[in-house]
Amino acid sequence: MFEGKVAVDLRGLAFDRISDGAVRRIAERIAAGERLGPADALAMYRSNDLMGLGTLADAINRAKNGDVVTFASNQHINPTNICTLRTTCTFCGYARLPKEAGAYRYTMDQVLAEAAHAADGLTKEYHIVGGLDMKAGLAYYQEMFRTLKANFPHVHIKALTAVEIAHIARIEKMTWKDVLIALREAGLDTMPGGGAETFSAAVREKIAGKKLAGADYIGVHRAAHELGIRTNCTMLYGHVETLQDRVDHLMMLRDLQDETGGFLAYIPLAYHPDDNALGTELGRRGTSTVGTDDLKMLAIGRIFLDNFKHIKSHWIMVTQAMSQVGLHFGVNDLEGTVVREKIYHAVGAHTPQGMTLDSLLTLIRGAGKQPAERDSFYRVLRTFDISAPETPVAV
Ligand code: SF4
Repeated sequence: MFEGKVAVDLRGLAFDRISDGAVRRIAERIAAGERLGPADALAMYRSNDLMGLGTLADAINRAKNGDVVTFASNQHINPTNICTLRTTCTFCGYARLPKEAGAYRYTMDQVLAEAAHAADGLTKEYHIVGGLDMKAGLAYYQEMFRTLKANFPHVHIKALTAVEIAHIARIEKMTWKDVLIALREAGLDTMPGGGAETFSAAVREKIAGKKLAGADYIGVHRAAHELGIRTNCTMLYGHVETLQDRVDHLMMLRDLQDETGGFLAYIPLAYHPDDNALGTELGRRGTSTVGTDDLKMLAIGRIFLDNFKHIKSHWIMVTQAMSQVGLHFGVNDLEGTVVREKIYHAVGAHTPQGMTLDSLLTLIRGAGKQPAERDSFYRVLRTFDISAPETPVAV
């Protein structure tokens, strides 16, 4: 059903650019067709040879994807910020209790009004995620997906994290599988990868005490894959997790991919400490993850997840500049939201989470890569000139 492990040809790899002996030995073993183990992943996280990791990740990415960097014309819709885990997910600044100031739940008319940006035919994907709202059960999302499909049949629906699927199953007293079947029948096409955070039980206890356990996140994705529903996966990093926690997390993702092949892409997500209780507790307000760690997360994801074709950088979280550099550290896909920003700018609104198409193309070309728009299954829809600007241009 799905593509399996992608073989890589590393004959062009510049081994002399890898200064750390441990990373060089890892590169030699990959070139010989050997698979890496958890100790290798830990050695890479511990290595200070950032350029060596980037060189290896870039070679693997080029072998799998050439110079093409994809993006999607997507639109985010967050229908409710009401969440039962408001007080226990200490890293979250989005959720609200039902009667708290700022709490909202969209009516179908509000969903449609927001979704109407797609009326120009450019938006090709709705990315729909929200809180664990007791009043947003199966019927709410079924109606939403049916309404969206009736009005915008050309738009793909990528919706609901594993945590939200499990929440609906719990309040409806259904199995994960039955919820997925019912939602697919209503219009669900694929699922995003949010809600993974870091799988370690000890980390979850500290930052997301009551959230779906890591093994259950994997279980919901397995159920989706068995139904033929493709999904993405993530790891939230840069909070209280250890390097070993990161390794264990990657192993669980790689194991499920071996089993089902149902993951489309891996997306490391940088923790931001502002406006959440965890940031205050850690005394880290105003600081974020560091650039070297952002790049290592991308590169090691590319190197270790040998059965993934797509590694995505979320420029909204790590900045456009860091995502651009990430294109030399194994990344072949960037977060989109191009169309939405274009529309907002056309009406004079300010959109902090968006880029114009031109800026996105400039960013990708500036890295010497070829931009390509893709659909939600990573099939290329159109490519753009690779020509880089003569002088560096701000994006
Ligand atoms: S489940 Fe999601 S929306 Fe709810 S508090 Fe946790 S991170 Fe925030």
